[in-house]
Amino acid sequence: MTSIAIIGAGLSGLTVANRLKNIADITLFEKSRGVSGRMATRRAEPYFFDHGAQFFKARTDAFQSFIAPMIDSGIVAVWDAHFVEFLDGAITQKRQWGKDSPHYVSVPGMNALAKHLSQELTVHCGTHVHSITKQSDKWLLHGEQDKLLGTFDWVISSLPAEQAATLLPSSLVFYQQVKSVNMKSCFSLMLGFEDDLALDFDAALVYGEDISWISVNSSKPGRKADGCCLLIHSTNHWANGHIDDDCSYVLDYLCKQTSNLIGHDVSLANHKVVHGWRYANIDKQHGETHLIDQEARIGVCGDWLIQGRVEAAFTSGYKLANTILGLLKHD
Ligand SMILES: Cc1cc2nc3c(=O)[nH]c(=O)nc-3n(C[C@H](O)[C@H](O)[C@H](O)COP(=O)(O)OP(=O)(O)OC[C@H]3O[C@@H](n4cnc5c(N)ncnc54)[C@H](O)[C@@H]3O)c2cc1C
Repeated sequence: MTSIAIIGAGLSGLTVANRLKNIADITLFEKSRGVSGRMATRRAEPYFFDHGAQFFKARTDAFQSFIAPMIDSGIVAVWDAHFVEFLDGAITQKRQWGKDSPHYVSVPGMNALAKHLSQELTVHCGTHVHSITKQSDKWLLHGEQDKLLGTFDWVISSLPAEQAATLLPSSLVFYQQVKSVNMKSCFSLMLGFEDDLALDFDAALVYGEDISWISVNSSKPGRKADGCCLLIHSTNHWANGHIDDDCSYVLDYLCKQTSNLIGHDVSLANHKVVHGWRYANIDKQHGETHLIDQEARIGVCGDWLIQGRVEAAFTSGYKLANTILGLLKHD
């Protein structure tokens, strides 16, 4: 059986793995302690935060079919949020999200979808792939202190572009394309309160400030109801300029921005943590959905080839897997 190493166990890597698992011997390597990548959930009992992706849409037939069984089994649910928009400090729009254009979340946390997808797969978490080298016609993956992680026929990168560029051989036909991509940063501010803040919204898009999004994480379906969990995102623009700043400065600044906007002193929260995402997001792209060097037997997928969206991560992984399925069937 063809052996395939997939680096990264976010949605794109897990999508490839699930589509190829019956035709190839798949091993995933993930540097974090758990799967899910930017569809992340942070626990700080009694508080829970989806500090990466907030919700997702399913516009394509392929993604709708993919999530349908997970909707049936309750791993994916619709978030019917009270949604508002802030412009220059005031609420200018209000609406109730509805079933006609569903906003989906995984349950009980955003990482549940990836956990479900990884159930029957071989995933080595806490394993940072440091280099890839070729010996004869096989790829060798190395971890910390050059430890050999395994030998494979194919390697697939599902990493954010900048991280992929540090690992992939520069001889690949598409290498310069990967190297030229710049993703945007974002900060996630996580605030836990003992009591409900009684806000006018569950989810808010914010314009004209250095924060771009506020959600009441505890308003999502299937979340634990202890206290109130607020999740705030900075704008990508502000984060790009401050990603290397001291965490306590970033936390205080984003708390002040939030307090001014919602009229509560959020610095009084019981739990306050900020997380910086260096490679968070990217605007809509217009090139290929995935990259493949058939001669070298290397494939690349990830949201950044399409747009910084959950559905884009799925589409990129799905299309790469379909291409590899075609190649392996003709081998
Ligand atoms: C703050 C934020 C908010 C967002 N909000 C939304 C939203 O509301 N809706 C939406 O649709 N999308 C949103 N997104 C985007 C969405 O999360 C991503 O599009 C999607 O999760 C990307 O999946 P992926 O598999 O392409 O990459 P990732 O999820 O980044 O997976 C890549 C994986 O590779 C691992 N990795 C990296 N380097 C190595 C290495 N050397 N060795 C081993 N493993 C490695 C990483 O740890 C990671 O788990 C948001 C993202 C962020 C950061």
